[in-house]
Amino acid sequence: MSYQVIARKWRPKNFSSLIGQDHISTILLNAMKSDRLAHALLFTGPRGTGKTSTARILAKSLRCPNVKDFVPCDKCSTCEEISVGSSIDVIEIDGASNNGVDAIRELRDTVHFLPTSGKWKVYIIDEVHMLTTSAFNALLKTLEEPPPHVIFVMATTEVQKIPTTILSRCQRFDFRRISLKQVADHLQKIADAEGIKIDPPALWMIVRHSEGAMRDSQSLLDQIANYSSRDITLEKVVEVLGLTERTLLNDALRGLVSRDRGAILKLVEKIIQSGADAKVFAQDLLEQIRNLLVVKMEAVSALMDLPENEVEELKELGKNLSSEDIHLLFDMAFKGVNDLIRAQDPRLVLEMLLFRMCEAPTVQSLKEILANRGSAPAASTQRTDIMSSPVARTTHARSGGGAFDSGKWNTFVGNLQSLNALFGAKLANTHFISLKDDKLTIGLPKQHEFLLGQITDADFLKKVGNYLNTFMGKVFKIEVVLEENASGMSLKATEEKTKNDEQKATEEMVENNPLIQSVKKHLNAKVQSIKEKR
Ligand SMILES: [Zn+2]
Repeated sequence: MSYQVIARKWRPKNFSSLIGQDHISTILLNAMKSDRLAHALLFTGPRGTGKTSTARILAKSLRCPNVKDFVPCDKCSTCEEISVGSSIDVIEIDGASNNGVDAIRELRDTVHFLPTSGKWKVYIIDEVHMLTTSAFNALLKTLEEPPPHVIFVMATTEVQKIPTTILSRCQRFDFRRISLKQVADHLQKIADAEGIKIDPPALWMIVRHSEGAMRDSQSLLDQIANYSSRDITLEKVVEVLGLTERTLLNDALRGLVSRDRGAILKLVEKIIQSGADAKVFAQDLLEQIRNLLVVKMEAVSALMDLPENEVEELKELGKNLSSEDIHLLFDMAFKGVNDLIRAQDPRLVLEMLLFRMCEAPTVQSLKEILANRGSAPAASTQRTDIMSSPVARTTHARSGGGAFDSGKWNTFVGNLQSLNALFGAKLANTHFISLKDDKLTIGLPKQHEFLLGQITDADFLKKVGNYLNTFMGKVFKIEVVLEENASGMSLKATEEKTKNDEQKATEEMVENNPLIQSVKKHLNAKVQSIKEKR
């Protein structure tokens, strides 16, 4: 295939030209220099991070007759054979192929033969996780006692599928995902050197489409360069790959942020005209909303992998939205992407998705409603002076008088709590029963029986009597009755009821709010909890 030319020409020739894996190059070079290279190496990491390239560079560094400081010449026949996979002493096995077992068996039979030339024989087993159990067993036998002239390099994208018996015999190297920025920079370098003209947005689109895999991005560059007479514009890339044009995506985001229905309507038309894949568009939109959130959280340097101009644009867009708004859009887009996967008419679903997102209420407006709920009639709850501040209670205490009833007892207990927390706590579960002459009867529900001894303690009652005297200006004899079913409401019970009533009123108001109902309908959501922000 002709478009492999660039990828082949620009494959890394030695450890220093390997992109983004310095930590691995350093360890391998040092190991070779100190003659302490392990016999079994496991290269793990995502696709396109340079595992196979590294294995070949390692093989060349060990076998090239012109090697200097473990930098192979990459020109001699030994190097060339390794590059194209025809070397007799560097054996590449594809773990994914059907003859994996046979290949490993053959390996077992031939591994002891010395290399035809040079000092080292290198086995590169790609996609090693695909080997069958019997192939793994055969491999294990060899790994248990590797011949001194052999290096095994196993590469995998799925290290969790490798048996621990194999893992324990390997030195493991974790290849890092190469950032899109690194791939883009490298690709730009290649384009410059190859005399290919390419716009930055076009370059980034290629990089994104290759998901940061170095080789894939180079193949694409080659392919599109040939298609567009070495002058690559964004339009050409979009045309070749059937991708979402970046401007469409950002237009969509802008329309959604400003809830501009007219713009969204026009945009849907444009998307359809451009022939963009609805699923891809929704997926890209989801990713861009995520980027918007990252920018909003100012985590740019750590998490962002975008060209500068897009970061700036996202920053600008993010100014008009709260993080909650972006979360809401993300949730909707996420659900939309899932719907689209199953959709028979993806365009229709995308249209509906964009309209729904456009009509979603902003969280800001929900907040305002919640903030105003104090004045809303549905939420008006009688607050008793139980809830008032200690200062108010003291005022109340001084003006104590009138008929003694349940409310008065609870107010007294509330006051007591601020004067003597322990006393207040002990009485918080008691309730007023009756007052006859100077005999005050209070009840204690059976469930709090454990408090009875403390409350009926003579010394305790005397002190409570003194407080009560101060509060009411009158001396009382206090009697405590244990009740199976409480005949009145204690301070605690009243407080709990008030809290529940308020909670219920808030819940009702939130549930009945038209905006919330719209969110519930559009997202198939339900209100899980209500938190008040202060
Ligand atoms: Zn060489």
